[in-house]
Amino acid sequence: MARKKRQPLAVPELIVRKRAGEKLDEQEIRDLVAGFMDGSVADYQMSALAMAVYFRGMDFDETVAMTLAMRDSGKVVSLKQVAAPKVDKHSTGGVGDKVSICLAPIVAACGVAVPMMSGRGLGHTGGTLDKLEAIPGFRVDLSVKEFRAQIRKVGCALIGQTGDLAPADKRLYALRDVTGTVESIPLITSSILSKKLAEGIDALVLDVKVGRGAFMKTESEARELARCLVRVGALAGKRVSALLTDMNSPIGYTIGNALETTEALEVLHGRGPDDLRELTYQLAAEMLRAAGAAKTKSQALRRIGREVADGAALDKMREIVAAQGGDPRVVAEPDRLAVARHRATVTAPAAGYLTDLDPLELGYASMGLGAGRGRAEDAVDPGAGIRLHAKLGDPVRKGDEIATLYTSERARLRVGTDRVSAAVQIGKRPPPVRSRIIETIRR
Ligand code: URA
Repeated sequence: MARKKRQPLAVPELIVRKRAGEKLDEQEIRDLVAGFMDGSVADYQMSALAMAVYFRGMDFDETVAMTLAMRDSGKVVSLKQVAAPKVDKHSTGGVGDKVSICLAPIVAACGVAVPMMSGRGLGHTGGTLDKLEAIPGFRVDLSVKEFRAQIRKVGCALIGQTGDLAPADKRLYALRDVTGTVESIPLITSSILSKKLAEGIDALVLDVKVGRGAFMKTESEARELARCLVRVGALAGKRVSALLTDMNSPIGYTIGNALETTEALEVLHGRGPDDLRELTYQLAAEMLRAAGAAKTKSQALRRIGREVADGAALDKMREIVAAQGGDPRVVAEPDRLAVARHRATVTAPAAGYLTDLDPLELGYASMGLGAGRGRAEDAVDPGAGIRLHAKLGDPVRKGDEIATLYTSERARLRVGTDRVSAAVQIGKRPPPVRSRIIETIRR
């Protein structure tokens, strides 16, 4: 973005002021972000500022200013020509989280436009883009022009963050990732919202995950993040609400790209695991409510049930896959997706109940099998991952199969098997099993 002529920025002074806990004003924040983009603010200065924010925080005004400055660092897509309300969903990241793949076509089948921008997996969490690319031919790198045209024609597009949208966030996130400054509520808020506000949406529903497999480990931290996102989103002029959801065990039975896509497609067939269906339907209902397409949650849930039962959601997925160059036959026949050929099983060492399926350990195990990446530039193995044969609370007998591991490189099986075995705990009594949905946070 072109920058107005201004005094040279006293960046060291701004860092010192933030380090002392002072408030920066809107213009100072805008100048910092603009300077970061044109090179007059160095990466090390921006990293130091991020660390000062990590320790001293930002108030709502500063967080709004940071969000809008990062949004304006690139293009802001206009979807004015799309008459339908436009709503997206964003998850803060989890293990086995394939919700976007079934949620987007369901919501679009209900007449709400879904311009969805997703991410890739990094670390123990998977990414929607990698899962979609398990569908042969599926393109996630649409240009802004193609993105806009597809929203108009199909009502939904599933894409990656293009270089044009919120580039300041992309660069700042890369610095935060390596400078210990990711877990800051104002920085996470401005990072998520800057990208989402650049998509041209009217409303946004957030899935804020809490638990061992999530960024936010405690409910109070997750609630604080959700409240900040909802409030800053409203100050930026959008309807934003959030569901706080449990991430203490993987969602559904699968972890890994093709395995998860297959399971998400099952939901569109009216099948699939209960927890995945519950999470998808609840988030979809919140999106319909935010879009004004349903007055109440129960009305929204009835509509969603109808669109799945009569095949409209499945047809919408077929349209999306075909529009993005993928093989639409996989929608009716999910078993067409690749599954890696080397396999191993983990069995129950004793009889009892499954009391723990540690999502962090399972996420790392899946990554080690080839489903995730250690560095952003690594390729993923679409057919690698883990299929669980039991869920938390299920009774098991000694020797029952608990998990099957898949990989294209046999040598990866041994470490994977050790990690999956370490993730599984069996006890004498079933653990309390609760809904994935903890709370809904709205303005
Ligand atoms: N997801 C984002 O997009 N940004 C963050 O800072 C954290 C999670």
